[in-house]
Amino acid sequence: MVQSMPDIECRMTKFRSIFWHRRDLRIEDNIGLFEASKNSKNLIGVYILDPNLLDLNRTSSEAKNWFLGESLLELQRNWESRGSILLILNGNPIILIPKLAKLIKADCIYWNRNIEPYEINRDRQIIEELAKEKKTVHSFLDQLIVNPNIIKTNNNEPYKVYGPFFRKWIDILNKTNKLNNNLIQTSSTPTKIIGLDARALSSIKNSDLSYCIFKKSKSLFDLLSSNRFKNNNLCPCKPGESHSIKQLNFFINSRGINSYAQGRDIPSLESTSYLSAALSLGTISCRSVWNGAQKSKNIALDEYQINSIDTWIKELAWREFYQNALINFPELEKGPYREKWFNFPWQNRPDWFEAWSSGLTGIPIIDAAMRQLKVSGWMHNRCRMIVASFLVKDLLIDWRWGEKFFMKSLVDGDLASNNGGWQWSASSGMDPKPMRIFNPFRQASKFDENGKYIRKWIPELSHVATTDLLSGEIIPSERKDYPKPIINHKYQTSIFKELYSNIH
Ligand SMILES: Cc1cc2nc3c(=O)[nH]c(=O)nc-3n(C[C@H](O)[C@H](O)[C@H](O)COP(=O)(O)OP(=O)(O)OC[C@H]3O[C@@H](n4cnc5c(N)ncnc54)[C@H](O)[C@@H]3O)c2cc1C
Repeated sequence: MVQSMPDIECRMTKFRSIFWHRRDLRIEDNIGLFEASKNSKNLIGVYILDPNLLDLNRTSSEAKNWFLGESLLELQRNWESRGSILLILNGNPIILIPKLAKLIKADCIYWNRNIEPYEINRDRQIIEELAKEKKTVHSFLDQLIVNPNIIKTNNNEPYKVYGPFFRKWIDILNKTNKLNNNLIQTSSTPTKIIGLDARALSSIKNSDLSYCIFKKSKSLFDLLSSNRFKNNNLCPCKPGESHSIKQLNFFINSRGINSYAQGRDIPSLESTSYLSAALSLGTISCRSVWNGAQKSKNIALDEYQINSIDTWIKELAWREFYQNALINFPELEKGPYREKWFNFPWQNRPDWFEAWSSGLTGIPIIDAAMRQLKVSGWMHNRCRMIVASFLVKDLLIDWRWGEKFFMKSLVDGDLASNNGGWQWSASSGMDPKPMRIFNPFRQASKFDENGKYIRKWIPELSHVATTDLLSGEIIPSERKDYPKPIINHKYQTSIFKELYSNIH
């Protein structure tokens, strides 16, 4: 909520500016863009396809690149319909942003701040470069509902445990928004933005950045045409600003939010919002999402519905908790928070990892979940917890292998949430209850009691009786080509416990 304001000089005299979109692929309720449009004489947008963030082996997935590319197409149209342009460049932002600013003689560069270590370091270098050219950077906090600087313990330290973090977070919001029905103010970007004059445009045309004017969508076209993710219809997260708003409205109007407390754990139901990719790439603002929840609460009919909406709000707080954790403890990116985990003797069997990744472990709930991920680019939260626990505590494989595999597969892959989810599941993070082991068969019986989810994603088992699907005890004649379980859960977890008790 707290943001850096442009200095007085920039406010009084309107300058030529650039707005750099990063994790905020939307026009509406975009704090940095709102400020830029208010304070600029001419304004263009830019997005940079940064190879560091599009790396399919490390930081992105085909599904996520599809979501990104489609969202950018819509964003580009939205800029044009307002009278300006969104340039899409390809390369290193540390070179490209100063170069573009120099080329079009922009005085101010606006962006919303990011929280990942790579991004923070990158931005610091860009600010230094721009300062040499006497260009002013205005940056804003946009991707979190509550400013991380004000969520501190009484000793002014960052929170390490979710429970107290949540109490502080919600307390701040309740106090701040009391006067306004608990709604947070959002901003609306003007319908008209004055783009560059002909002279500034021709300076781009005559430069080596001309590709972004002449072949307007070439970089984007290359990104989308080379993309092998073709199951857009099976991915529940839909790209683009307009779809994200629709998705939020659907979740609220269809009353999904009112029964979330019960429905959220059943993977065969469409009972969650599917907004994770939208929140991660910013096709929707976290404030709109918060406001959606508050509006639902204002018209909720009973305690059950209010409880459901509050449960959903707690998930939004998990997102903010993990982002706060990464801001305050950037070393989380590199490995376990609990240092003794560095000494755990992982067995890291490549054949088991391969079986896990391809949904061929012979344990139906695990394989159904991994196939859902492979096919649709998304996995239900309950199943993310089950497969993560299984990889670490049954297969004895380093959780960082799983973390990386998720980043390479998820449409919503997000360093803070993914690392947080994996460290939570592995018991290597800040969680005060470290020894959590999920029994995949019990989890299946509890959360997929009729086997609907398993049958959907493992069609070759659709004829198998539900009790056998849940217990994993399928006779060979029914099993056909489906593999036998690669491990024995009880035996493996006893080894895990033994190994864990010996690390210091
Ligand atoms: C091992 C593991 C890895 C994960 N990796 C990611 C990831 O890369 N990106 C990601 O966005 N989420 C991740 N999650 C969290 C969670 O699984 C997804 O956010 C959720 O399934 C997305 O579905 P939804 O949008 O329908 O969520 P909803 O249930 O509708 O929740 C609303 C929003 O709250 C946030 N949220 C919900 N649960 C969590 C959570 N446990 N942690 C953090 N934020 C949460 C998301 O932004 C989500 O869109 C991971 C969880 C685990 C256990």
